[in-house]
Amino acid sequence: MSRVSFEEFQAQRAEFIAQEENRALGADIVLNEDERKVNEYLMKLKKAELDIGFNTPSQFLPSRHFFQVVDKIKASPLFQLIQKLPKGGILHAHDTAIGSMETIVKATHKDHLWQYGEFGRADTPRFKFSRTKPDELDGSGWRLVADIRKEIGNEGYDHNIRNLFSLFNKDPLNSFHCINHIWGIFANIFMSLEAIVTFKPVWEEYFYQSLKELYADKVCYLELRGVLPQLYDLDNRTYGPEEVVRIYYDLVEKFKSEHEDFIGAKFIYAPHRLCDDATFSQYMDIAERLHQKFPTFVAGFDLVGQEDLGRPHSDFNERLLKMNPSIQFFFHAGETNWNGYTDENLIDAILLGTKRIGHGFAAIKHPRVLEEIKRRKICIELNPLSNQVLKLVDELRNHPGTFYFSDNYPVVVSSDDPAFWCASPLSHDFYVAFLALASARQDLRLLKKLALNSIEYSAMSKAEKVEAKHKWNISWNNFIDQTVKLVA
Ligand SMILES: [Zn+2]
Repeated sequence: MSRVSFEEFQAQRAEFIAQEENRALGADIVLNEDERKVNEYLMKLKKAELDIGFNTPSQFLPSRHFFQVVDKIKASPLFQLIQKLPKGGILHAHDTAIGSMETIVKATHKDHLWQYGEFGRADTPRFKFSRTKPDELDGSGWRLVADIRKEIGNEGYDHNIRNLFSLFNKDPLNSFHCINHIWGIFANIFMSLEAIVTFKPVWEEYFYQSLKELYADKVCYLELRGVLPQLYDLDNRTYGPEEVVRIYYDLVEKFKSEHEDFIGAKFIYAPHRLCDDATFSQYMDIAERLHQKFPTFVAGFDLVGQEDLGRPHSDFNERLLKMNPSIQFFFHAGETNWNGYTDENLIDAILLGTKRIGHGFAAIKHPRVLEEIKRRKICIELNPLSNQVLKLVDELRNHPGTFYFSDNYPVVVSSDDPAFWCASPLSHDFYVAFLALASARQDLRLLKKLALNSIEYSAMSKAEKVEAKHKWNISWNNFIDQTVKLVA
């Protein structure tokens, strides 16, 4: 066999690269003239950061732990441009971890809040709003937060609250030794936060503030997951699942009426997978009731919690198959590093007809799963920062999303629980995805595709999607017009 000429070799090489580029996510997008100018600017900023990283790998921000570089990212011109870019919707986020913790800090200034236990102990403090001293736990340990504030000062108290409800840590690599360790702390945050956030006035403020923060981060649509805990007020009234969903629905409508370019929100009922059979039956009943009562606002059903420690899907499949077929599934699956264990939840999720997959981190190890994801157009909801903070991957260039991006898998980028790691609702995840998951060659077409995918793979009806795309297009064109003026 003779070798080809150098010219022929070069032609083959160029063709090879073109074929790879044409297979990538976003390759089908055609940019207009103004978009091409914005793209040139965007790629200049991207290349500058990649070059710094290529020459000095430790300076490449997405290769470090997010907690170590969050301040540096804030100063990145690329990040600042991504903040302004209309990113479409967030399809994977949990309701009490979207808005920043400042709303919770503010809530702890309200009257009638009680605290049990001290800050800084292994047992995190418990809280409750009540006109009288709560009698739960041993009864005697409860103190009014207002009194504790007098003792340690407002600044000190607020600082403790911020620490308590965030995973943020200046030495993340030494502080969290494994996935189970950090998930334990993560679960404690949810538990300790619960009695503050389930106080009805706080619940309403927190959600509304979350929508404001999304909107400010150029996100115009949300599909939020929630466990629907019981809410309470000072008159000892409690509020069940239907009432909680009603609160969400009303607040979304209010927000839409005040922000006409906001597309809206839908809710996915997602109770905990670590439950007994009787509790699981109750969850199924609630899902059915919500589906009847809110057929368009409640999009479907999911299960949450650490997959490795929770019950596997195989425990629930028989009953899930009996669920009303018009309730759609949006299962978390493959949020694990294991191969041949809990990652097999992916197979269950697909065979159960899931519409999307939360994380799908382990899907790359399953060729049949990957085939079905493409064939059935099951969208993978990538949450890169969540996967780093919760210890599935240290270095984001090694995230399996790199493969999903390079071979045009149906994916969106979401943020999971951004408040717990002090990230913005979506911009930080977009930034690391664009720099570390995407190839150096992937450009504005990728970002546009991700935004469009978030509409395409949402639970919106066909008509809702048409309207959503129309609204998003207007925002996108405004962004392009404004950016062209800056870079021209
Ligand atoms: Zn999640």
